[in-house]
Parts: sequence; C-alpha cells; structure tokens
Amino acid sequence: MLFGRSKKNPITIATKPVEKWIYATCGYCSTGCSLEVGVDAQGKGVSVRGVTDADVNQGKLCLKGIFEFEVFNSPNRGTIPLYRDNTFEPYRDVTWDFALDKTTEQIRRIQQKYGRDSFAIISTGQIYTEEFYALGKLVRGLIGTNNYDGNTTLCMASAVSGYKRSFGSDGPPGCYADFDHTECLMAIGSNLPEQHPIIYWRMKEALDRRRFPLIVVDPRVTMLAQMADMHLPILPGTDLVLLNAMAHVILKENLHNKDYIAAYTTGFDDFAKLVADYDPVMASKICGIDEDKIRTVARLYAKASAAMTIWTMGINQSTHGSDGVVAINNLNLITGNIGKPGGTSLSITGQCNAMGTREFSSCSGLPGYRQLEKETDRAFMSQYWGVEESFFPTKRGMFETDIFPAIETGDIKGLWIIATNPMTSMPNTARIRKALERLEFLVVQDVYSDVETTKYAHLFLPAAMWGEKEGLFTNTERRVNIVRQAMQPPGLAKPDIWIFAELAKRMAPPTGGTNGPLPLGVTTPAVAMSDSTLLPHLGKQFRFPQSTAEAFEEIREVSKGRLCDYSGMTYEKIEEQRGIQWPCNDANPNGAPRLYTDGKFQHPDGKAKLIALPFIDNNERPDEQYPFWLNTGRVVEHWHTRTKTGKIGNINKFSPTPFMEMNPSAAEKLGLKQMDYARILSRRSSAIVLVMLTQRVAPDAVFIPMHYYDCVNRLSLGLLDPYSRQPAYKQSAVRIEKISDQEAAGITNLQARSY
Ligand code: SF4
Repeated sequence: MLFGRSKKNPITIATKPVEKWIYATCGYCSTGCSLEVGVDAQGKGVSVRGVTDADVNQGKLCLKGIFEFEVFNSPNRGTIPLYRDNTFEPYRDVTWDFALDKTTEQIRRIQQKYGRDSFAIISTGQIYTEEFYALGKLVRGLIGTNNYDGNTTLCMASAVSGYKRSFGSDGPPGCYADFDHTECLMAIGSNLPEQHPIIYWRMKEALDRRRFPLIVVDPRVTMLAQMADMHLPILPGTDLVLLNAMAHVILKENLHNKDYIAAYTTGFDDFAKLVADYDPVMASKICGIDEDKIRTVARLYAKASAAMTIWTMGINQSTHGSDGVVAINNLNLITGNIGKPGGTSLSITGQCNAMGTREFSSCSGLPGYRQLEKETDRAFMSQYWGVEESFFPTKRGMFETDIFPAIETGDIKGLWIIATNPMTSMPNTARIRKALERLEFLVVQDVYSDVETTKYAHLFLPAAMWGEKEGLFTNTERRVNIVRQAMQPPGLAKPDIWIFAELAKRMAPPTGGTNGPLPLGVTTPAVAMSDSTLLPHLGKQFRFPQSTAEAFEEIREVSKGRLCDYSGMTYEKIEEQRGIQWPCNDANPNGAPRLYTDGKFQHPDGKAKLIALPFIDNNERPDEQYPFWLNTGRVVEHWHTRTKTGKIGNINKFSPTPFMEMNPSAAEKLGLKQMDYARILSRRSSAIVLVMLTQRVAPDAVFIPMHYYDCVNRLSLGLLDPYSRQPAYKQSAVRIEKISDQEAAGITNLQARSY
C-alpha cells in the first residue's frame, strides 16, 4: 500500500540523455569542487555530478554547482562582437577582425595622445590561470600600461597584502585538512554555510568527529554563528581591536610560544609594546565584546595544541582589512600556529580563480609572485620573455579602486574590462556610472552581452565561458585543478586566450608568420614577433602563447623554484589527482598541503614579521541622521553580480529580489512589516528593498545582499584600505523610511532584479 506523497505525487528525476562525462572544476567559488559535466549526443551540457574521489568535495556539490550546466543555455550570451561609435547609439554587429583592430587602434591612439598609462585594464578572478598569464604578458610586454588590476581588489586584496606583510609573500599557508587536526577554530567575518557550502561541510564533518571549540566573530547571527560555541557580535570595523586585545591577554598571561617567536619571527618587542595598550577593558568599549569574553577566547586559542583562524570579507572589506589579516597572522605567530596541522591563517578566497590571478596575472607585479619593485625579478622576466627590462615599470600601478577616480580626474581615458561588472560590484555606483560615461573608449569582454557595464561601452567582445574551453583554476587551499572543454562556445564567442593572442598579433605583427585569426581549437606553435619597428623593446625570442597548453608550459618554467611552483605538474597528473596543491616540484611531486612547515618565510631574512598595528577609527558610523549600520554580504543562491545565477531559474527562484534583513523591534518603531517595501538612504543615494524581519541582525543594523544591480552599492561608501585599496563595503550609515505607495515601490524593486 502506498502512503502520503508517494501515493499522490511522487518526485521523479528527469532522465538526462548523457553521452559522456567531462571532468571539470566548479566555475563559481574558490572551494574548487571537482565535478563532471554530462554532455548529450548533440554536444550540449545537460547535467553535472560531483566527483566522489576528489579530496575537496568527495562527490558533494552545493546548489550552484548542481545546476551549473544550466549556464550553458542561459539567455543573453554574447555570440558576436558589437560596436558603436557613441554610447547613445545602438550597438551593431561587427566581425572579430574589426573588433580586434578597433581595440588595438584605440589603445594605441589613447596611449600616443595621453601617455602609456592613460589606458587601463581591469580583469577578473574568473578566467583560467593560463589566460591570466597570457593577459599579463600582453599588458606588461606589449601594451605597456601600468594601470592594470583585477577585481580581486574588491575581495581578496587585503588577504594578499596581509600575507605579504607578515610572511613576505602571498599564498594561504593552510588547507581544508587542517579542520581535521585543529583543536580550536575561530571564524571571523566568514559565513561558510552560505558562502562556501562545501568548505562548511568539510568543517562540519571534522567538528562532528572531534568536538573542538568553534568561535565565530561576526556582527550578524549568521548560520555559522548559530552553531558556534561562542559568538562574538563585534561592532563593524573593529576586528583589529579584538585581535590586539587577544594578543594582549596571551602575552600578559604568558601563554605565547616563546621558542617559535625567537626562532622564526622578528619585531616582537614593538608588537608587545603596542598590544600592551589594548587592555580588554578598553578594547571592549570599542569592539563591543565584553572583557571576559575576550579573555576567554584568547586563553582558549592560546592553550589549544593547534588553533586556526579562517576569514572572508568580514575582515578583508574594511579600512583596516590588511591590518586585520596581519593581526590574525600575529596571533598565529605568537602561538606557533603556522605551518602545522590544524594551526594556520587560512583566508577563504572568493572567486573560482582569484588565486590564479594572484599567482600569474602580473596585475600587481610579474608572474610567480615576482615583484616589479625587485630588480632581479624584472631581470628574470625580461630575459625569459624577451622584453627590454626598462619597458617594465618599477612599481605597481593603480588598483581597480583608484582607476575610477583617475577617470574622473582625466588621467585615464580608455578602459578594457574583462569578466567583471563594476556597475553592480563597485561601491557608490552612481559615481562609477559618471566615470564610465567620461571614457573616450570602453571595451567590455564578457560571456554575457547584457552585463550592466556594457551599457556604457563602445565595444563588446563575446567570450567563451567555463566549460567551453580548457584551463586551470587554483582554489583556496592552493589546489590547482583543471576544467576540460565540455562544450563549444555559442556563435562567434571565443576563449579569452584567443582574444589575447589575436590582440598580441595586432600589437606586434609576427615576422613571416600569419597575421590572420586562428580557427577555434587549432593549436599552433607560439608565434615569433621579433624585429617590430613599432616595438623596439622586444627581443627576438619574444613569443606569445596561442593556447592554454602553451601558456601552461611557460608557467611551469617561470614558476620553477618559486613558492607557487607548478614545475612538477602536467594536465594529466592534475586531473588524475583531482587537483594538486602547489608547490609541486621534485621535492613535492604530489604537491604540498601546507606552507612554512620549516619555519622559513619569504622575507629576505627568512623570518616572519610581527607587526604593531594601532587602530584608527576612520570610517562612517551611524549618527542621528543615519542611525543604522549597513552590512552587506552574500546569499547561498547567488554568485557575485548575478550575471550567471540571475538567469538560472532553479537558483534565482529562491532569491529573486533585493531584500533587507531588519530586526523586528527596529521595524516596529518605523511602522514596517514583513514583506513591506522600504526606502533605504545613505549620504550617497537611496534604494528600495523588501523588508525581511529577523533576529539575525541587531536592532541598530540592517543587512542587504550584495548581488543586485542598482541596490546596495548605490548606498555603500567604500572607503579604501591604505595597503590593499580594498573598499570597506560592510560599514556604512543609513536611514530607513516607510513608503506609502507600495505598488510603485515594488516596480522600482523589480528593476534591481535586472534579469
Ligand atoms: Fe561550486 Fe563553490 Fe558550490 Fe563547490 S561550494 S559546488 S565550488 S559554488
């Protein structure tokens, strides 16, 4: 006999006619889950499944990963290059030759008229590592502008900067397996269940096996905070005070690891002098965590045989983001928790290949964590590439967040945006819009032709997306994994590396070789580009990679002996092992789970630095006029600016519209009810949002997801961290107003859905 649901309406899973399964790595977040794309007889991606023998996810996928095959059939893919002379005209279809010639001509025109650095490039964390490498070679070797950055400045720049300051190099030292060894886990500004669901699953499995203390520091009662042993609801932007106060307690109570400090660090005396001022009584007044709790957490952390800290944007997106990361590193250095199982500072990265751009894009330097500021690094790449050393700048140029103000001041006249969407992702979008409108030439390269930023562009270059081309991603734990090509790109869309190679040919025509575009999928030997009278800085050995495989060979060579050493990797080995954690070389043929296990760091003296970090309160705070803290963040269903997830019905339907979490007591005072539309105003602008009542936020705070166009970033201030130039998205002051015409407000709210 059948009962209940099975009798009435049994759930059936549609049969998917999969002909073959193609190995890939998820193209959303930096967890780096291994999956397979199911392709049908027509060559169409129709399914996705997790890979069970992959260490990262062991067959699991989150909601985004499960429905990732739907991106292949999502609407408004770019299928043909588009151009217009003026941004008030409609676009017209053009050929690739026209589009690439126009890009080259405009870059050169602007540079000749205003100087080499007047043309800027903003890239992404979404394309493959080999593509980043090729783009870096194009920019550093041929275009020659120093104003070249990635959108990783919006998410991971503070982690990069903090690692460099403490350890002498970027590179997260730990791994997911540290959850299996730690005796104390502190998560600061990181809501794993929503942001990185499979890392959360790894952590939860470890937690269920061994009940280690979980401490969550977050102004909001996030999903992770709800399961914590201790939740510290810190006041926005004051993490540094808490961390300094924890160090104060550890030193005062003699809980620090003196042997480790003496052997592997410098700067202890200045550091100890500074934290002596951060008594928990004083600190509690600033950070809002009571003094006893600060002491308890400090003792718990220092007495654990292995303790680790993970963090995400709650630390990074602050005016003290870089200092916050250094303070976490300080804590782990004084307790001897770097480079050992369960003891680490592990930044949980954002995009699927934010790490790849950090390693090889040359955005902030030169490939393989080389620095423009170092003569030996410039000399090596000059020799390897065949580019005159004097053509390289001797210090890094503008960050993404400095490029827009430079457009306002007229220092930047042209811009190339690759796979990022600043009209939704940058703070204070009204200001960004005005800046984009000032450009003489804007080219947008993206997989979707309806990305909001294309509204302000002259030229659109349609790119192939994840799974339509082959290449590598690096995940949060330094694991390099491969995406095999499962599908052909739609229409005339091309892999990003093809676009870079075609531009390279136009900028430095090869001698004796073909100058015509290569057919898609054809791999030819790298093209020699010597003797160009236009580019006297190029040596005879200058080559430009024509495929990801060729770029990978160069990466293996230039990374040999570096911290991010790929020399022992091959594509086949990477797929076989389901990803390899760098360094991978003769000493570590199967990769290495942790860095700095020998206590040898990347500063010239081989030591890690303990750095004294005074707290300066320099951000916007609530006041009488704007009495609420505005916090921003992610929801599990969406990815970044929803260019993909906003078009996938099985995902978008769970979170289709901008909303604001608000405490019921605050809402009651303003006469607001659940599902009302409310107007939220900052000193920048205003937006309409749906009210969601919840105790997750404090009565003086509200939370709005970051993903929606024309919504929270109309309001955010985004003051910049002085080291990383990362914006402080999570700390603005706002006021909230009841709206009488709910119907009209609903229409405005609808516009922010964008898709
Ligand atoms: Fe993809 Fe991240 Fe989800 Fe894994 S956790 S399936 S990498 S979005």
